[in-house]
Amino acid sequence: MLLSHRIRLYPSPAQRDYFARAAGTSRRVWNWALAEWRRQLAAGEKPNAMALKKAFNCIKYSDPAWLDEGGQPWLRTIHRDAHAQPFAYLARAWTRYFEQCRAGQPAHAPRFKKKGRCRDSFYVANDKLHLEGNVVVLPKIGRVPLSEQLRWPGRIMGSSVSREADCWFIALQVEVPDDVARHCRTGDGIVGVDLGISSAATLSTGEKIAAPRALKAALRRLRIRSRRLSRKLEAAKTAFSIAGCIPKGTRLPVSKNRVCGARALARLHARIARVRADFSHKLTTRICRENQAVAIEDLNVRGMLANARLARSVADVGFYSFRRQLKYKAARYGTQIVLADRWYPSSKLCCACGVRNVTLALSERIWNCAACGTHHDRDVNAAINLERLAAGAPAAQMALPVASQAATPGTAADPGSAGGGKVTPVRYEHGQQDGSGQEKDAADLCARL
Ligand SMILES: [Zn+2]
Repeated sequence: MLLSHRIRLYPSPAQRDYFARAAGTSRRVWNWALAEWRRQLAAGEKPNAMALKKAFNCIKYSDPAWLDEGGQPWLRTIHRDAHAQPFAYLARAWTRYFEQCRAGQPAHAPRFKKKGRCRDSFYVANDKLHLEGNVVVLPKIGRVPLSEQLRWPGRIMGSSVSREADCWFIALQVEVPDDVARHCRTGDGIVGVDLGISSAATLSTGEKIAAPRALKAALRRLRIRSRRLSRKLEAAKTAFSIAGCIPKGTRLPVSKNRVCGARALARLHARIARVRADFSHKLTTRICRENQAVAIEDLNVRGMLANARLARSVADVGFYSFRRQLKYKAARYGTQIVLADRWYPSSKLCCACGVRNVTLALSERIWNCAACGTHHDRDVNAAINLERLAAGAPAAQMALPVASQAATPGTAADPGSAGGGKVTPVRYEHGQQDGSGQEKDAADLCARL
């Protein structure tokens, strides 16, 4: 099983400088390769990553664009993995783009990377690094202390060094033997998880788990720091006598004060990301550890993020990473994930008698079943219906909408192929209310805000 461990690095100032240069090299090579790729594509040729890499190798020590002021090739000071790997990444990005286009999914072609806007990272191949306890030995710069030891035994398959605010991390991909990677579950429960905004997850046991809402908590501080940074930028523009947009290619003088401001803002963003990651990791681990089968809804996260009013709250809970983590952790704990169809009416079915409450309004947090009179909490009822789905209870399957136009093959009705169903690409369905039971969407969540 391929697992990845991301460990904080403690580089010296010289090593920090090398990391920044190596990441910059990686970015510049990507941009060069992408420009070539696009040019060849426009000329009607068939671009190919290997050929591009060969062409680059011919010019990288001689072309004036890749020489420093003294006429020396600066690329020699950076390890070759940092400028060879972008070609492989680019080929992968184009392949993925064409696959998504063919599948009719929304896709965008690979884009140029901009300094300060992209993720700073570079690749180190597995045969170029080795670990000595709490230290990693990297090419060109030598020993860099780590904050902890590598968690698993196994063969290192590759690694990448990346920056987050002003910290550097190394992510090591390790091929872990299956018997080591597998964990023992502490329970064999079956649970349905209803995701929402007011409480991030409602379990079918009735437990409601609130998300830390890291962004919401930090929003005031974020505004202050952003404003401070933007004022410093304005000051730099005034000193350079630029009004309005900065013309392309201009380099403003960078003051120490502005660098500090940018760093403070970046640290706050990094903190928000860490709080979210901590919450979703702990919750997904707990759910996988305690249950043998878990049912969640196939939420249309992309559609929700397209809604300007909702995007912030949805992003703050982190639905997408929640599902991604649940999937890979399920494999480690041997837990089965059942992905309910996007149109499965989990909120509208009465969990006691199975009658569907067609008139259930989006704002009703609690309701009474007209047929059997049971008092329901909306989220808990939905979670219980999802749990039925996980258990494969016939009551829940019988209650499935008969004519669900967009039913995805092999999800709700067939728990066996969990997560493998093809998702019908519907982009803005959150605006629809067609009584097909589809309601776990933007409008529903709006009501919860
Ligand atoms: Zn009922």
